[in-house]
Amino acid sequence: MALAAMPTVRLPSGKQVSALGQGTWEMGDDPSKHQEEIQALRTGVDLGMTLIDTAEIYGDGAAERLIAEALGDRRQELYLVSKVFPGHATLQGTIEACEKSLRRLKTDHLDLYLLHWPGSIPLSETFEAFQRLKSSGKILDFGVSNFDLHGMQQAAEVVDVTEIATNQVLYNLMRRGIEYDLLPWCEKYKIPIMAYSPVERGILVDHPILQQMAMKKKITPAQLALAWVLRNKQIIVIPKASRVEHVIENRAALDVHLSHEDLKALDEAFSPPKRKSPLDVI
Ligand code: NAP
Repeated sequence: MALAAMPTVRLPSGKQVSALGQGTWEMGDDPSKHQEEIQALRTGVDLGMTLIDTAEIYGDGAAERLIAEALGDRRQELYLVSKVFPGHATLQGTIEACEKSLRRLKTDHLDLYLLHWPGSIPLSETFEAFQRLKSSGKILDFGVSNFDLHGMQQAAEVVDVTEIATNQVLYNLMRRGIEYDLLPWCEKYKIPIMAYSPVERGILVDHPILQQMAMKKKITPAQLALAWVLRNKQIIVIPKASRVEHVIENRAALDVHLSHEDLKALDEAFSPPKRKSPLDVI
């Protein structure tokens, strides 16, 4: 059966990116998994999951090197996202960190560059570095990660809010806190959220309620968890799968339809937030 087209999410810059991408945390660390990880990333791109998320700190550069090895011949198809470690996020440090990521990734530009989490270096410095990297063509867009509402409001005081491409945060059935305040704020400014750890690092796969519901729908718990995040058409979802069968399974989550009753049952099992809470992070 032919695959349905990959849905896209529009960034404030107008760029359309695949709604379902691929994470790479802990990839490239274990030599015994090397070939399978390469195959998994290539399979994902074959299936339209062309947004690849990585970071300079993943395996101290190992994930970026793995991406270059796995997908170096397919750079034009990719939307590459990497992140600067907050301790490096000075004006000069950010530029140097980006250049190192580019060398490891064997590319001349990143499609999107994020500040990995808020640190102690003034945001104005990091954003100035992002602007310079953008002017020189080394990055096409920039954004943030692990920023709560207050952090986003501060960021919007430093740069024009339309320049913030995304906020990458923890979001899944077990971690719904952002629905209370951060998500509505981002929606108001048309800043898509990029949801990390969408299957809670694999934990949701073993959740008895998800297992039960998934069985009834003849899908897998991972697909149910992913379909739930993907129900919001303004969210980009980046599961990590180093096994080819998981990648194929995850891509098929895009074909899952969640009915009103399904959503109600999921709300009963994993309640939406009733009050403001600190941003969940991993
Ligand atoms: P995740 O995607 O929620 O879970 C990954 C785990 O789930 C892996 O053990 C994977 O197994 C397993 N899995 C994936 N698909 C599966 C399936 N269909 N069936 C069964 N198991 C499945 O967790 P994550 O890696 O933490 O998050 C995803 C990405 O988000 C990361 O890789 C990273 O790129 C990004 N991230 C960003 C931040 C940040 O601070 N900005 C923090 C965390 C993560 P296999 O690998 O064996 O296939």
